[in-house]
Amino acid sequence: MKAEGIEGCERFLSPGKGRGVRATKHFRVGDLIFACPAYCCVLSTSERGNHCDFCFTRREGLSKCGKCKQAYYCNVECQKGDWPMHKLECSSMCSYGENWCPSETVRLVARIILKQKFQSEGTQSERLLLLKEFEAHLDKVDNEKNEMNQTDIAALHHFYSRTLDFPDNATLTELFAQVNCNGFTIEDEELSHLGSAVFPDVALMNHSCSPNVIVTYKGTVAEVRAVQEINPGEEIFNSYIDLLYPTEDRMERLESSYFFTCDCKECTTESKDKAKMEIRRKLSTPPEPEEIRKMVLYAKNVIEEFRKAKHYKTPSELLEICELSMEKMGSIFEDTNVYMLHMMYQAMGVCLYMQDWDGAMKYGEKIVEPYSVHYPPYSLNVASMYLKLGRLYLGLEKKTDGVKALKKALSIMNVVFGKDHHYIAEIKKEMDE
Ligand SMILES: [Zn+2]
Ligand SMILES: [Zn+2]
Ligand SMILES: [Zn+2]
Repeated sequence: MKAEGIEGCERFLSPGKGRGVRATKHFRVGDLIFACPAYCCVLSTSERGNHCDFCFTRREGLSKCGKCKQAYYCNVECQKGDWPMHKLECSSMCSYGENWCPSETVRLVARIILKQKFQSEGTQSERLLLLKEFEAHLDKVDNEKNEMNQTDIAALHHFYSRTLDFPDNATLTELFAQVNCNGFTIEDEELSHLGSAVFPDVALMNHSCSPNVIVTYKGTVAEVRAVQEINPGEEIFNSYIDLLYPTEDRMERLESSYFFTCDCKECTTESKDKAKMEIRRKLSTPPEPEEIRKMVLYAKNVIEEFRKAKHYKTPSELLEICELSMEKMGSIFEDTNVYMLHMMYQAMGVCLYMQDWDGAMKYGEKIVEPYSVHYPPYSLNVASMYLKLGRLYLGLEKKTDGVKALKKALSIMNVVFGKDHHYIAEIKKEMDE
């Protein structure tokens, strides 16, 4: 049976963009446009024990799967609900032990293959777009990406051959490419990664760097809310990427990951680029364009170096990369420059990991205001920064500052998560304590 669409919006052919979603009624800021349960999802292995493997609820005292002792659940209902998917991994994790290491994408694809076997098309996650209709862009996949896909396919065969029958290699190649272009990561209110999922109806929305909706999660359900007024007939745009960076960087990212050139208002006017690339104001002689170009190149390299270093360097070594690079970039870039902010954000993350609360707070204080300038008015990145900072203040017994920061977080979260989200109730409780 084919599902019957979604009230308030419809699938249409967007000029120059292919299919997309448009509104059929008026939406105000904060209105829920639609909710989409995950077609398939998988909890990150690093979040096991903090969140239920089935419903992603965060709480203490979850019960372990008696067999593998790796998956955790709220109760027997969640364990039973998860079993059709968990059985793909339960015995395999027992036999491989520490050598069990498929990537999150491989784990997600295994679940999709299984679900496609027993589930007919047109689930509640596919009211506008079927998973089978996902774009794969196979013709545009370069060698590096193709190699990664083949590695994933090998891992799938390696870890799942006892529990799953696979389609042929061509079908698997297409499925991995589809998931790479259309998959979502689920994050919590502080933007910590919780897991991966596919939400077909959400994936139908096209991208804009000035989106009129934001996607948040309630457990394993994606919720799409308006962050700008939307009139009937207008296209609904989501953002696929982090909007902190200047136009050139966003374009590169969209081209390499999603294979299109963005022509949104931000990309054509580049109105925020000057502030995002702010040059130090108090220099006796302003830097030559060539010097700036070199520093931008340095910044991009150090961002990439840091991303790789995260996997094998110690926290203090990582902090040193941040500090050295900020010192170097600081000779030309203002503290509000996005490349400086990028390294400050990384440094803050390392401080949080090391439980250096004062250090984290100092970075957070420098980040939060420029973030509010660079990001759109309703932004999860800005909300989560106020939230982290507010929680740090409360932990350091700076109650007044804490409440002030949490109120700022809430003013954004009320719109993007909806006033009845459990995150909001939790934050209000923290403010009263
Ligand atoms: Zn649960
Ligand atoms: Zn198990
Ligand atoms: Zn754009």
